[in-house]
Order: sequence, then C-alpha cells, then structure tokens
Amino acid sequence: MSYHHAKGQSYPKVSDAVHSFAKFQMGIVLIRQHFLVSKRLIQHERNVVATRTAGRSGLGLGGCPRVGYFGAVGRVSGWRLSRVPGVRSSHDLTKRGSLSMSSCVALIVAAGSGERFGGEKPKQYLSLAGKPLLRHTIEAFLAHPAVTAVQVVYQPLHRDYYDQAVAGLGLPEPVPGGATRQDSGRLGLERLAEWPGGPPKTVLIHDAARPLVDAGTISRVLAALDHTPAAIAAVPVFDTLKRGEGGLAIGTVDRAGLWQAQTPQAFHFSTILEAHRRLAGAGLTDDASVAERAGLSVALVPGSPDNIKVTTPDDLARAHRLLGPTPTDSRTGLGFDVHRFAEGDQVTLCGVSIPHRHRLEGHSDADVALHALTDAILGAIGAGDIGSHFPPSEPRWRGADSTVFLRHAVELVRARGGVIGHVDVTLICERPKIGPHRAAMVARLADVLGIAEDRVSVKATTTERLGFTGREEGIAAQAVATVALPGSVW
Ligand code: MG
Repeated sequence: MSYHHAKGQSYPKVSDAVHSFAKFQMGIVLIRQHFLVSKRLIQHERNVVATRTAGRSGLGLGGCPRVGYFGAVGRVSGWRLSRVPGVRSSHDLTKRGSLSMSSCVALIVAAGSGERFGGEKPKQYLSLAGKPLLRHTIEAFLAHPAVTAVQVVYQPLHRDYYDQAVAGLGLPEPVPGGATRQDSGRLGLERLAEWPGGPPKTVLIHDAARPLVDAGTISRVLAALDHTPAAIAAVPVFDTLKRGEGGLAIGTVDRAGLWQAQTPQAFHFSTILEAHRRLAGAGLTDDASVAERAGLSVALVPGSPDNIKVTTPDDLARAHRLLGPTPTDSRTGLGFDVHRFAEGDQVTLCGVSIPHRHRLEGHSDADVALHALTDAILGAIGAGDIGSHFPPSEPRWRGADSTVFLRHAVELVRARGGVIGHVDVTLICERPKIGPHRAAMVARLADVLGIAEDRVSVKATTTERLGFTGREEGIAAQAVATVALPGSVW
C-alpha cells in the first residue's frame, strides 16, 4: 500500500502499520475515544479562558481487496470548536440577494487596523472560540429575522484574512474602507445606494469589534426607527467619572445624563446617507455623531453591557468568558461511496475538476468524495443519508453539482445550532494522482463548508493495484466529519 502526496513519495512503515491493524481487526473498526470531563470542570470554564474538550476525528485506511476495506477512526482532545450563535440560514437567498424598499441591511465596519490592540493580525480577524471575531459579528446579523443582507467595509490589505473569515457565508463583495472611521461609514453607505434592486429602507451600522451583539439589542434599535430617523444602542454610565492629569484626580465629572454609545446604530437609509455626504471629512467617530451634527434626533435605546467593543487583549479574554462553554455534544459521522469509471475526459473530486482519461459515472456529477463527505455529516447528526435527501430517482438531480448536497448537509447542522469542527476525506484510487490537486480541494471544501482550511483534510491512497480501484475500474472515497451540537453528552 502506498500513499499519494504532493511529491509522490510513499511511507511504507505507516502503511504497513495501518494494514496490520486492519488485518488484526478483520472488519470495520471504529475507535471513538471520548474525552469526557465533568460538569464541574465545564462550569469552572465559564470563569476562566480554558480549552474546550470536543474532539476531532481522523480516519485511516488499510486495504484488503478480497474482503473489503478497513477503517479506523481515532479522536484527539483539546481542539477548540467554535460556538455558533444560531445562524438561521447563511445561504438563504434573501440574505444576499437583491434588496427592496422594505429591506434592512447591516453594514459592518471592519476597516480598522486595530493599532490599540497590537499584534500582527488585525483584531477583527483574531480567533474567538474557534472562529474569527468578524465572523461572530456577521453571523449575529445574518441570524436576525429583520436583517435582509450584510455588507462589510474592510481594509483591502487584509483580503486573505477577510476571505477566510467569511468563507461560505455568501456575502456581497466587501467595500474598501477610507482613511477614517467616518469615511469608511460613508463609503459603505454609497455602495448600498448603488445596490441592484435599489437601496435599503433602513441600515444598521455596526463595529466589527462588537462580536457579542444580541438579537434583542438589534430589535430594539430597529423598533425605535418607527418614531425617529436615528437610534443607537447605549448603556447609562454608573461609575463615578474622574478627570485625571499626571496620574492625579483633578475633578469629578457629573455622570447624570451620560451614556456610553454602542453599536448597532440604526438609521433611515436615505437620511443618514445625505448627512454623511454633507458632513464628509468632519472627523466624527461614529455615525450617530454625523446624525446629530446634521440636526437629526437620535434615540438612545438600551443596549447590553455584554455588547463590548474588543479593543485590548483583556477585552478579548472577557469576550471568551461571556461566550461561555462551546457546544460539547461532539458527534462523529462516517461516509463511504464508490463510482465507476466510464468513457470521458475529466472527473470531479472534492468539487475540483481534474482532467483524466475517464469520467465517473453517476446520476449527479458523480463527485464520489463529496458524496462520502455529505454522508459523513448527515451521519454525525443522525439525519439519514444522501439518497434519502436527494433520491437518484428524481430527474432534477441529473448532472447536479454535488456541492448542492454538501451545502444542504451543512445547513442541517447549522439549523440545529451546531458547528462542523473538522472533516477528513480519503480518496482511494490509482489515478488520477491527487497530490497536485490537494490544496485546491482543501480550499474548495473549506469554502463550501464555511470553515477554516486547517479544519479540512484531504488524503489519498491506492490499493496496491488490487481490487476494483487497483484495476482502475472506479474510485472509492471515505470521509469522517466531527460535528459539535449544543448541549452536552451527559
Ligand atoms: Mg455517490
């Protein structure tokens, strides 16, 4: 048994070990080592920034063509799985499609360099409970029933970070920000003014660095727009305020009537656009200031003390604490599929088209890897198999792009409030060689799944020219997926 990889070498010691193990087990062997911890430890985690305990799974293959394939799944603990605040449907067309006058767009301003935070990576792309801070922020708005679309304003120098953070969310092209916060807000509004289908009726402007915004706050600022052209989330100041100079208190500031402004800040779209155009370059630090300067009345709506702005590393640690334990009901699913070769000149594997001397035969595009992976995800959530969701008897799936099947499985996970922690796909074939296409496959899977590339694994192996894959009659694929659902296993 040899293993494909980028440079085409093989690792006989590894393959021998796997093969021996498979022979010893004489069947499909699943090893799931759950690392359970007590409720007490999880409760303790609420108050400390602790590692989460959900596991990842990896799938290894040993082959014996006479009696079939042997797989072994092993789990490792200590990976942090991200918490999903209930994305309703990130691929729902209403979230990214054309707008109407009744629509409400969330404009997320993520163009800052985050200089106060320090560090190499801008703070909006730092990891919070397993996913970028910006993604938390976006998902909070995508999940809100009143929000019809999300538009991000970003710093083009951060394009790679941005693409990874929003993978799979189906957002419109981001708007490059300006030199100041006020410019970035205006540029975002100008983009919305040009949207196909017309500008929105209302806009929620929100700082990317407030990832813990809750649905109640969003609802309250929007509701206030029934009575006023502008409304912002804010919390009253309770602490006594001191004026300081050289480390000494030189006076006490009367806190009566003082509020801390938060975001989201909600506006009638055409009104705030006009105000921004008129006051361009005024150096104002939030959109409510633009509205006030334009003479608009701005309603103060109760925000949430948890809707913190992540400005320093201490804030990030606090955000971790506020998020609480991540979903720890960790599930593993296994998928397997085979398609035979037929006359043709290309195959589609992991959503990547590869020139080959055959094609794969099947009702859809016959992407054997995506079928195995879809079944693995469905298996992890106990949702049947690919055939029960997409019956081959239905003509509409003829020639279908198999990413449709995979996206459906991802939606089912999200609908349960779950998150895909990791997937591992093994292709079993002599040819085509997978190594040269592996990076493209990983990128494609990460995009469709909406997870980071380091949570995706694509491997390949041969069967030493034995069996149907050895005779190049077809390709087999197996996949394993780890999914975390809300709740716990105990
Ligand atoms: Mg299939």
